[in-house]
Amino acid sequence: MRVPLTAVPDSHLPPADSLLSVAVNALGGSERQGQITMVKAVQQAIDDGDHLAVQAGTGTGKSLAYLVPSIRHAMETDRPVVVSTATIALQRQLVDRDLPRLAEALAQELPHEPTFAILKGRRNYLCRYKLTAAWPEDDEQDQLFDARDVSATGRMVQRIQEWAEETETGDRDELVPGVNEQAWRQFSVSAQECLGASRCPSGAECFAELARARAGEVDVVVTNHALLAIDAMGELPVLPEHELVVVDEAHELVDRVTSVVTGELSETSVALAVRRVGRLIDQPIADQLMEASEDLKALLAAAPPGRVDELPEVLGLTLALVRDSAARCLTALGPRGGDKDDPDKAGQRKAAFTALDEVHDTAVRMLEAYGHAGEADRAEVVWLDGATDRRPPVLRVAPLNVGGMLRDKLFGERTVVLTSATLALGGSFDGMARQWGLGDKGWQGIDVGSPFDHPRAGILYVAKHLPQPGRDGLPQAYLDEIAELIEAAGGRTLGLFSSMRAAKAATEALRDRLDVPLLCQGDDSTMLLVKQFAEDEPTCLFGTLSLWQGVDVPGPSLRLVIIDRVPFPRPDDPLTSARQRHVAAKGGNGFMTVAATHAALLLAQGTGRLLRSQHDKGVIAVLDPRLATARYSGFLLGSLPPFWRTTDPAVPRAALRRLAE
Ligand code: SF4
Repeated sequence: MRVPLTAVPDSHLPPADSLLSVAVNALGGSERQGQITMVKAVQQAIDDGDHLAVQAGTGTGKSLAYLVPSIRHAMETDRPVVVSTATIALQRQLVDRDLPRLAEALAQELPHEPTFAILKGRRNYLCRYKLTAAWPEDDEQDQLFDARDVSATGRMVQRIQEWAEETETGDRDELVPGVNEQAWRQFSVSAQECLGASRCPSGAECFAELARARAGEVDVVVTNHALLAIDAMGELPVLPEHELVVVDEAHELVDRVTSVVTGELSETSVALAVRRVGRLIDQPIADQLMEASEDLKALLAAAPPGRVDELPEVLGLTLALVRDSAARCLTALGPRGGDKDDPDKAGQRKAAFTALDEVHDTAVRMLEAYGHAGEADRAEVVWLDGATDRRPPVLRVAPLNVGGMLRDKLFGERTVVLTSATLALGGSFDGMARQWGLGDKGWQGIDVGSPFDHPRAGILYVAKHLPQPGRDGLPQAYLDEIAELIEAAGGRTLGLFSSMRAAKAATEALRDRLDVPLLCQGDDSTMLLVKQFAEDEPTCLFGTLSLWQGVDVPGPSLRLVIIDRVPFPRPDDPLTSARQRHVAAKGGNGFMTVAATHAALLLAQGTGRLLRSQHDKGVIAVLDPRLATARYSGFLLGSLPPFWRTTDPAVPRAALRRLAE
């Protein structure tokens, strides 16, 4: 597939690789082969209009490798390039560190100093109108919290109001310390709820609009995968017009896009719609929706959590009731728009339309999910998430596959460069490309390698002699193995567990047994725990999912990464299990396509915590023997960097002792 980019017949700009070398010299770095290869590949993809997937190991300097040709392209075409990330940490790194330094370094080589801006979803900016207007009550959760929570939220609300007087950006992330969702929601609106700048009395000074205007004038717009997906779906254009997108942390793209398009229905969402519409229409019509909400509440409270493969009759009837009573409310609300001279009324009606649309459309979607008899033909899965301390049960609906949507909406319109340290699973890009909806043509995948010498710097030890992990917690043999490895390493261990329960159990069992400090995720904020872990060499840190991907600790504080089991999705995870069944129903290998791919990706991310700089050395210990013995182990091992491998328990112990000395 060739995606036409704006033609630039005679570019007088220096080639991308020369610009890279200027930037690297100015930033005091050294040339890295992988980085040079990546710059050339990105430039080629831009020239050809083909999509590109680049696997670039830690230390490649991949942000520079895509930013340089991107900036060059933006200057050539006078259109911004969009760079999308999964995490706020990477967004901050790009706008606070990489882009300012790069812009300064390239200023003399290009027609003007490169410019950049960050753009977030509307909910992230303070809504000036909501700050002053009579907006419908959104504090529907109050009754769920105890008095202390409510007064804490009250203090946060006050702090937001004070901050609103002085902030220049209205960006929630600049409010330090942060505030909870409940407080923030009182002064922010979703894109659907926004009145629109032309109708809004505060439109001229709206923070979200100012951020968007700024983004339209710069060379590089940094955003997140969720906003990228919303923009690509085209219902609400949020990003400035662009023809080149760079997706960093691309291994997260499918999950983030799935979250954006997941629909939710609960007693809370229906009751919110009732509250918002209540004073705007005849009471008996609103009461019908209230009754539907009560039915839904009783039904969901009694139903078991998990996938809902067949639609129970009573659920079908209740969803139809919710759908029809929401539709009646929408009709009663009258035509959309209007109320031009009464912004308060317009705001209330818009908020009511938004909540009702969501309830109505989600109920329709859930009913339609069962429209096909055969599993292979289904497009969506419905499941019930049980109640927690903070919220009632929620019925959700999500697509089994977002590839088609990405292919049509994102890849069809523009050239996309996708990059991450982990994209080639089992040595091939095909698995990820399939998830992105890319076919055989129109894209290329390259692995530019890593500057690290994996076989010399790291040992991958699989404890083949241990029993397979079971359902009943960590076996004693695992705890003994962990203790001995940590003693050999003198602490300095990151323990990556497949569940919080396992991380806590290991912490509890080993805290007294080891004479090094042992931290567990949840003891404090994860950011503080990682800081403590990095600053004190003997300290160990145990935890689960966010640590698998979010820890970047170079140096001697991290010599050992322990992984308790191959991180397959939980068998009762509704979305992955449904996706697995769907692939199998279509004749594919559901286990390999979904579960093994998920595990390979996470395993590669987890093992990637060990080597973070050129001089790092250490051991990755995987306690789960299946990584050495199972039939799928070749695929998993083929997804990892080429560490030196062993199953001999003596080898990692000796290596760790040597390193500790
Ligand atoms: S334009 Fe929308 S987001 Fe901006 S102040 Fe008005 S209502 Fe709020």
